[in-house]
Amino acid sequence: MKQIKVQINGKAISGHEGMTILEAADQGGIHIPTLCHRPELTPSGVCRVCVVEVKGAPRLVASCHTPISEGMVIVTNSQPVMEARRAVVELLLTGHTGSCVVDSEAHSCELHKLAAELEVGQPRFQVKKPRFYPVEEANKSVRRDMSKCILCGRCVRACRQIAKKDILAIAYRGFATKVVVDCDGSLNKNECIDCGVCIDFCPTSALNKPAKGVL
Ligand code: SF4
Repeated sequence: MKQIKVQINGKAISGHEGMTILEAADQGGIHIPTLCHRPELTPSGVCRVCVVEVKGAPRLVASCHTPISEGMVIVTNSQPVMEARRAVVELLLTGHTGSCVVDSEAHSCELHKLAAELEVGQPRFQVKKPRFYPVEEANKSVRRDMSKCILCGRCVRACRQIAKKDILAIAYRGFATKVVVDCDGSLNKNECIDCGVCIDFCPTSALNKPAKGVL
């Protein structure tokens, strides 16, 4: 495989063809925060938390799905990068904070951990009408609380790529965008093999095991 040399934060790092900036940084011991990305899944670049500067590029790029090229000069911690990451997390927190704070599973919320890591405080923005969906507990293995969903798409990719099922999808547009089952039906269907993969990959508590005694 062709070797590629890049510079990340002034450090020379050797990678190979096909490697992403995120992978090269990781190999060089440089941490880039991520949210929609998991190494086991195909990168989607949807959340923009992992943005970095690439010298000569007109805008910040998502490191999880941008391949390295010979001589690339990358900066992962400049002021524009940090400001962009914080803005993304602040926007995601808007409308997410309330429901998570009162949830016993909030300790497992990667968004809140990321907010702490990036020193993002209470969001300055306000939503006129919070996204609200009733909690769905029709499935004996998965409790769905889509009000807490940040639309990272990890569950959709994990169901397809890890569980080898294709039960979930992202549907609608804009404010109405939502993770759905079929034509926005319930998860109470035979195709769901109750593997729990979608729960494992959900960074918030939007997907969780049902509370004891519910079913
Ligand atoms: S349910 Fe969880 S994994 Fe799926 S898109 Fe929402 S936050 Fe991401």
